[in-house]
This record gives sequence, structure tokens and C-alpha cells, in this order.
Amino acid sequence: MFDRSEAQKILLENLKRVVDQKVAPVAAETDRSGSFNWEIVSLFWDLGLLQIMLPPQYDGWPENPSHTLCLSIEAIARGCAASSLLLIIQAVGSYPLIFAGNEAQKRKFCPMISHGRKLMGYLVTEPEAGSDVQAIRCTARKSGDHYVLNGRKVFATNGSVAGLYSVLAKTGEKELSFFMVERDREGISIGRIEEKCGFRGSNTAEVILEDVKVPAENLIGRPGEGFKIAMGDFDMSRPAVAALSLGLAEGALDYTVEYARNRQTFGKPLIEHQAIQFLLADAATLIEASRGLMEQAAVAFDSGRKNTKLASMAKFFCSDAAMKITTDMVQVLGGYGYIRDYPIERMFRDAKLTQIFEGANQIQRMIIGREISKK
Ligand SMILES: Cc1cc2nc3c(=O)[nH]c(=O)nc-3n(C[C@H](O)[C@H](O)[C@H](O)COP(=O)(O)OP(=O)(O)OC[C@H]3O[C@@H](n4cnc5c(N)ncnc54)[C@H](O)[C@@H]3O)c2cc1C
Repeated sequence: MFDRSEAQKILLENLKRVVDQKVAPVAAETDRSGSFNWEIVSLFWDLGLLQIMLPPQYDGWPENPSHTLCLSIEAIARGCAASSLLLIIQAVGSYPLIFAGNEAQKRKFCPMISHGRKLMGYLVTEPEAGSDVQAIRCTARKSGDHYVLNGRKVFATNGSVAGLYSVLAKTGEKELSFFMVERDREGISIGRIEEKCGFRGSNTAEVILEDVKVPAENLIGRPGEGFKIAMGDFDMSRPAVAALSLGLAEGALDYTVEYARNRQTFGKPLIEHQAIQFLLADAATLIEASRGLMEQAAVAFDSGRKNTKLASMAKFFCSDAAMKITTDMVQVLGGYGYIRDYPIERMFRDAKLTQIFEGANQIQRMIIGREISKK
């Protein structure tokens, strides 16, 4: 575990209280109804959680923002994974602006986010392009001092609730570029809102762009830098998904240990059966290992060191661990683990997504393989 600054300690103490009192108690109902919880959103704005990655002059976290983001995500995911995803997508969606935008763009868009409290959407995935980002078809055609965007983006977290999007589009045959696009621009409409197996409190929508006119000054970086920016974004977002997975696994283990203390079988508490202890021991060990990888990857990002390999390791290890742990915790609860009245089945459904998004785990292994085979 890396040292926490005094400011981080205070933030995490407050956050633990807020999660216990206000976030965790509504997690089951949000999951059941599949509705987007705006009260949690405004609570997170009040706590400064949705602008952690912004530059400090725009109300971002002054030191070690990625580490702070990850610790906050972990704390929230212990009680509600879907709520913690709000922090990830806010950071992912604003990354192109923060790390590749010019000063004029930051002056224009950062206050919209922090003071205007706009949620971010990150529009990259398309029906024919998920893992293979370079296969996107959405186009941005230059027309005078504007670009005109046309395309269909799917699986956009916050898609129908965001006020501002980062959109990846083709500005040439083999040239991808990012644009900041305000939600209220003419030509933007919302398609399907996805019904999901887990993360049901998170909004996942299709966003359709038809002849959307965007000023040329909304292009982030230089034309053709979009792919590089998207790959850089992953170095920040993958430790964040690792943190979400870790929090989810910790929440599942905490609940299950308490349950196993109180449930009796064959005349003694479940927790005294060695076979059950082995499952709990495996979970506790995977959690400690997950924390080490996640924090290393986040701290490396903050220090400016190249963390691509570590970020992929953290993402796949922590999410595979969360999937194994939540599956095993269902087993410890037996039939009750499979019943909606108990939180473990929700955690089990939520864990699956962590192995898929921000680059599925096969892709993470490909990246690690590529990195270690480099001379
Ligand atoms: C709830 C949810 C929220 C999401 N939020 C966002 C968002 O906000 N913004 C956004 O842009 N996207 C988002 N996504 C999209 C997500 O990032 C993609 O689903 C993910 O990248 C995988 O792409 P795909 O679904 O098209 O799968 P595919 O690319 O079709 O892959 C299918 C499977 O094949 C494997 N695979 C693919 N290629 C290879 C290969 N070369 N070798 C071995 N295995 C391979 C993959 O690992 C995967 O298991 C979200 C998805 C979900 C489900």
C-alpha cells in the first residue's frame, strides 16, 4: 500500500461515511429499477469527486489525482459499483481535453464541467468497432471553419445523461481525431438505452450523430492524434477499472464473512468449516495482490512514468479476481447467494463487466505480451 497524504485520508474518511449512509443503502433499489440516480450525482459533485482529474486551476485534485481517483472509486465500489463508474467515465471522457487540449479549449470546457456540473460521455465504440478502435466509421468532414460529424456510437456510459461528449471520428481514411461535442448540438439524438445484466444503475446508450456541425476549434490536439490520445486515456482508466474491481471484491468479501459468522450448518458457524475458510482465504489474498497492482499502476501514471503494461496487468488481474471472488462468495452463501434480497448476486453480475470494458481482458494480455516482447 502506498502512503496516503493527509488530504487523501480526510477525503477517504468522509467518503466512507457517505458510502455507508447514502450510497450503499440505495444500491439494491437502483439495481432493481435500473434508473439513473441523480441524487448520487449531485452528492458526488458536492464532494468534488467528479472533477478530480481536472487541472487544479479548474477545481481538480492538486496532487496524485490518479491515485486519489482510484482510492475514491474503490471506496464507492465497496457499496455500489454502478455509482463508482460515474467517476471513471467522468475522468475518461475529460482525458482528451485535459491531456491533449490547448489552453483555450481548457478555458472553454473545464468550467463547463466543474461549475456547469456537466457529466461526460466518451463516444468511441461503434457497432462494428469495439476492441478494434481503428475500425470506427464515424466521420468528421471539414467544411470551412467547421467539421461535420456523422456516425453511430454504442454502449456510451452516460450516453443519454451527459452534457458533453468526447467523440472519436475519422478525419481522413486512416486518420482518427477527438472532438469535444456539446450534447445540445443539432443532429445529436439518443437511440437505444441498453438493458444490462449488471451495472443497472449506470446509463448505457446509443448516441447518433447526423450532420452535427462542430467548430474546428473543438478538435483536440492535431488531426490524426485521436488514436494516440485514446491509448493514453487507457493508461489512466485501466487502473481506475482495477480499483472498481477491487472495491467490488472487498464489498463481497466483507458481506460474506459476516454472513458466514452467523449462518450455522452441522452445528457450527459456516466460517468454521475449513472448505469455506479456503474460499475466504483465496479471496483475501487476491484482494491484497489486486491492491498492490492497482496502486502501482495509478501512482506510476501520476509520476509521469510509462505505465501501459502495469495498467493492463492491474485491469485484467483485478477484474479476473473480482469475478472469481464474487462467484465464490455466491457459493459461500449457497442458495441465498443466488437470491435478489442478498447483495452478492448483484456484485456477481456487476463483476462480469469489469472483464469486458476499457479493453476486454484478452486485449490486456495482448498488450502485456506486446510490451514484454519489445526489445
Ligand atoms: C456497460 C458497458 C459500458 C461501456 N461504456 C463505454 C463507453 O462509455 N464508451 C465506449 O466507447 N465504449 C464503451 N463500452 C464498450 C466496451 O469498451 C466494448 O464493449 C469493449 O471494448 C469490447 O468491444 P466489443 O464489445 O465490440 O467486443 P469485440 O471487440 O467484438 O470482442 C469480442 C470478444 O473477442 C475478444 N477479442 C477481440 N479481438 C481479439 C483478438 N485480436 N484476440 C483475442 N481476442 C479478441 C474480446 O476480448 C472480447 O472478449 C461499454 C461497454 C459496456 C458493455
